[in-house]
Amino acid sequence: MDIIRTSAEMRARSDTLRREGKTIGFVPTMGAFHEGHLSLIRLARAASDVVVVSLFVNPTQFNDPADLAAYPRNEESDAASARAAGADVLFTPAAADMYPPGSSTSISVAGIEDILEGAMRGPQHFRGVATVVARLLNVVAPDVLYLGQKDAQQVGVISRMVTDLAFPVRIEVAPTIREADGLAMSSRNVRLAADERQKALALRHGLDAAVSAIDKGERSAGIVAGLARSAMHADGVEAEYVAVVNAETFAPLTEIGGDVLVAIAARVGPVRLIDNERVRVP
Ligand code: AMP
Repeated sequence: MDIIRTSAEMRARSDTLRREGKTIGFVPTMGAFHEGHLSLIRLARAASDVVVVSLFVNPTQFNDPADLAAYPRNEESDAASARAAGADVLFTPAAADMYPPGSSTSISVAGIEDILEGAMRGPQHFRGVATVVARLLNVVAPDVLYLGQKDAQQVGVISRMVTDLAFPVRIEVAPTIREADGLAMSSRNVRLAADERQKALALRHGLDAAVSAIDKGERSAGIVAGLARSAMHADGVEAEYVAVVNAETFAPLTEIGGDVLVAIAARVGPVRLIDNERVRVP
């Protein structure tokens, strides 16, 4: 596996690969790899000639400077696990490379950037995400972009941008990888103390309550969200939001039907956690 540190060198490598007719699978990340990241790298490995993984802790998508400062960083162990999972290139640019002097362009995906995570973190969060992914797509020029369902709204934002701006890339969404007890893997989980780690299961329990109510025939989004909130409250965690929305458009639902996403966020100790489940209702 090669480590590439500049956009210019990355772009040159992609140009060569494309001239050779090689397909490129791309996994953008902020590092601190866990099985969720590695599952994306393995999916890309199975389907592409060359796998590029980017590692860039993107400052513009952090609304909280303390969260950015505390974000776990370990390039050496990340490089080792990316290599073992089948990556060919680890692209780790510096902030000054990604945001050249005078940088002033930002991509705004109106509507979806303002709700749920956007409402909690501010619209600059998804603007930061969309802008950095647009630049990465231009530099890496992949055939397929691999994203995790764990960050469902991020998938919504990037899919909309790729469609609207005609980026020549296909998006593959990979299922959420969980710990044995159901907690969604996240780079932020390492910041949970033992008792907080236990409380974090509230998100899983909230989703279970929502999905089981839908499975039993409940069709009121308000009632389903209330059940999820109560299940979390019983674990000592207050939900920041429980949203029952259309899984494609993120439009809020009153009556549950079609392709439904239940998305949850909560603060546990020092960490904000998110999780979601997608349910198809005939
Ligand atoms: P991050 O490093 O947090 O920006 O995540 C990089 C990619 O990994 C994103 O597409 C995430 O959605 C995905 N990802 C993060 N956690 C998980 C997980 N538990 N399961 C599957 N994919 C994940």
